[in-house]
Amino acid sequence: MIYLDHAAATPVSEKVLEAMKPYFSDEFFNPSAAYLPAKKVAHNYETAKGVIAHAIGAKASDLIITAGATEANNLAFTAILDGQISRSAPRPAGPSARAAGANSCAAALRNAPSQDICPVLYLSTEHDSVRRVAEQCGGQEIDVLPNGLVNLDDLKAKITDETELISISLANNELGTIQPLAEVAAIIREIKLDRLKRGVKTKLLLHSDASQALNLLDINVARLGIDLLTLNAAKIYGPKGVGALYVSHNAKLKPLTLGGGQENGLRSGTENVAGVIGFAKAIELAKEHLNGNRKKYSTWRKALLAELQGYELINKKHSLDSFVVLCYNGIDAERLVFLLEEKGVYVATGAACAASKGVRSHVLKAIGLSDEQIAGSLRLTLGETNTEEQVYEAAKIINTVVRQEQNRLKN
Ligand code: PLP
Repeated sequence: MIYLDHAAATPVSEKVLEAMKPYFSDEFFNPSAAYLPAKKVAHNYETAKGVIAHAIGAKASDLIITAGATEANNLAFTAILDGQISRSAPRPAGPSARAAGANSCAAALRNAPSQDICPVLYLSTEHDSVRRVAEQCGGQEIDVLPNGLVNLDDLKAKITDETELISISLANNELGTIQPLAEVAAIIREIKLDRLKRGVKTKLLLHSDASQALNLLDINVARLGIDLLTLNAAKIYGPKGVGALYVSHNAKLKPLTLGGGQENGLRSGTENVAGVIGFAKAIELAKEHLNGNRKKYSTWRKALLAELQGYELINKKHSLDSFVVLCYNGIDAERLVFLLEEKGVYVATGAACAASKGVRSHVLKAIGLSDEQIAGSLRLTLGETNTEEQVYEAAKIINTVVRQEQNRLKN
């Protein structure tokens, strides 16, 4: 098998699994219990949170552990329900769909007043776990440029005095596009200053989903100027269903689950100790190998692009080194995925969840690709299961399969 879909899932690494194992058996105690072995588990859990937080320049107390990135993204949006935000008057009425969206946002995000509005801006290429919540909030999309980067002019034009939350992922999950978050943060800082001068009290927060970027970019929340950051263990050779939300002191959230009050009362439920221990190990390893992996994937990416034939490269610039997005004009990429699987090569047409529902990629549409180009697009994502030999072997197999398809279509 040659697995080229590391953006969809990564295997739990050997070292991560070893670190997790004791917490399924000998160290099974509930961290909230009063006896000594449980207190030791609680201590190890906090230490692991500290390791995760340290990797992004934060403290353990800044992190809310969640059951994956979807939940962290959903939790981030409760920031707009902060009771301290003054809303003198609702935003001028928009289309009725938007008003309906605002109401269901309120319902979805825990009992906000139904007349409440949800002043959210989000990038049009965000993952569905951001888009769906933002849509429910009547949020407005920020356009991307044809190269996948945020259109900063569009962002500036759409920020109003009611805007409270802007959500822009650090790296896109279909293209690997790395967004210029420092530039976005600088714009936000200017707007906050201007609001201060004019006595406008509305907060303005920046949320970023870093699910895909954690093992390939050096992330520091303070340096980037981020208020809320989503992390995902499942994409960095850690366990699935484990994530975290970094929350700066500027953001006040509302709980998604109510119960025992774990995670500062924001995410009640007995702690996933093994998961968090595994997450900490995975992030430690990711940081240790960050530069080496970037070099390796960059070399392999170049090799793939040199060996492959007859494609149009979609993610030409500003992309994570592990992402190669290609378009084979006139060919059905879904058929390619199937034919390549028969030859032992695993690739994707887009985000795994969208692909499984047969939905056309909103990301490729947002960067201006035609329906035909979208239909012919393949995503290859490199990772730790790969070797250099595999890269050349995969290129050979893909070339053969594409040629066969082209011949079949000609006849
Ligand atoms: N955000 C991004 C950018 C992702 O790529 C994914 C998963 O594919 C998610 C969020 C959702 O992660 P999970 O399914 O682990 O909740």
